[in-house]
Amino acid sequence: MTNSLIVQKYGGSSVANTDRIKNVANRIARYKKQGHKIVVVVSALGDTTDELLELAGRITDKPSNRELDMLISTGEQVSVALLAMALHKIGIDAISFTGPQVGIITDCSHTKAKILKVSADRIRGQLKKGKVVIVAGFQGMNSEQEITTLGRGGSDLTAVAIAKTLNADMCEIYTDVEGVYTADPRVVKDAKKLSVISYEEMLELASLGAQVMQARSIEVAKKYSVPLHIRSSFTDKEGTIISKEVKAMEEVLVSGVAANKGEAKVTICDVSDKPGIAAKIFTDIAKHDINVDMIIQNISRKGYTDLSFTVPAAELNKTKDVMAKIVNAVKAKGVVYNNEIAKVSIVGVGMKTHSGVAAKMFGALASKKINIDMISTSEIKISCVINKKYADKAVQALHSAFGLNKR
Ligand code: ASP
Ligand code: MG
Repeated sequence: MTNSLIVQKYGGSSVANTDRIKNVANRIARYKKQGHKIVVVVSALGDTTDELLELAGRITDKPSNRELDMLISTGEQVSVALLAMALHKIGIDAISFTGPQVGIITDCSHTKAKILKVSADRIRGQLKKGKVVIVAGFQGMNSEQEITTLGRGGSDLTAVAIAKTLNADMCEIYTDVEGVYTADPRVVKDAKKLSVISYEEMLELASLGAQVMQARSIEVAKKYSVPLHIRSSFTDKEGTIISKEVKAMEEVLVSGVAANKGEAKVTICDVSDKPGIAAKIFTDIAKHDINVDMIIQNISRKGYTDLSFTVPAAELNKTKDVMAKIVNAVKAKGVVYNNEIAKVSIVGVGMKTHSGVAAKMFGALASKKINIDMISTSEIKISCVINKKYADKAVQALHSAFGLNKR
């Protein structure tokens, strides 16, 4: 297709140094010469955002969120200007903008703002003049004209929001991997790159820790059907297209296997089995902003039951503080913690229409003598909590049980 409008987002690793920035400029130039209109969204160079946060941490452990946004939004301003210069140098007309300059309007929640509106008039104007337009990712402005940022990985969201606003033909997400794989290639040697995957599957995989794209940006892309192509900036190979579910996708039982080692299990023992107890426990936990994932309640014995749930391991200490109070309040016998767990999951839209998928998963784990601790299912996902030390083995077993190495 010539003359299409393409939004290209380059992640931090794609612009980690000046050579890579030049490499990106050459790629953009090629597309431009084919006759496409190009809008580029860029992340900060390499680990800049982490480094800026580290600087703040050396001054105070409680920086104000407004000032944090002032600080971390600078990273992207560096990369857009350098990329514009690299394009000028090779004779391509380009102009860089900050998020506020192109009218990315957000709500007021500093460091995790939501985009409310993108006016994009300046982008349209410059595209008309034939320029490549470069926009700083990750940042916007609230109604008080304050600079905000969109949460870690937020440049993806900038790209998706701009693609939606401009009704782009494609939103390309450039990263350092060649696309989305059937499993983590570092764990499963014969993991295969998927040529296409549905938004739903991608969302599940992202929330399971397959960190190729910010989860929130996939939700927005899904909502507005923004076509996505995840690919590498280091090769010309096609990556993975993310699109609406089509019939053919249902023929595949499982598209991907993932493991999340970042959760911990909490079990509250011998709580009374009566109305209001679970409500009390989880209301208190929610009040402390702790994200609960799986929840399992056992059958009750003589009016008492055990209740287990998982939380992000990073929030375990906070959870312990809250639980200490809850145990007293609901007169439970005690609470135990386990952070030696992993959640392994299989994801696939084909599960909606096929039976026996769960049995096959449990069978594959059993054949490796891996014990299942907790199970949860959704329409397109089955997850099992197991001992952390078997996580890789479980992923490998599931990958071959579902024939993903033969795709
Ligand atoms: N630079 C920001 C971050 O590292 C935004 C992004 O990379 O998308 O989170
Ligand atoms: Mg980054």
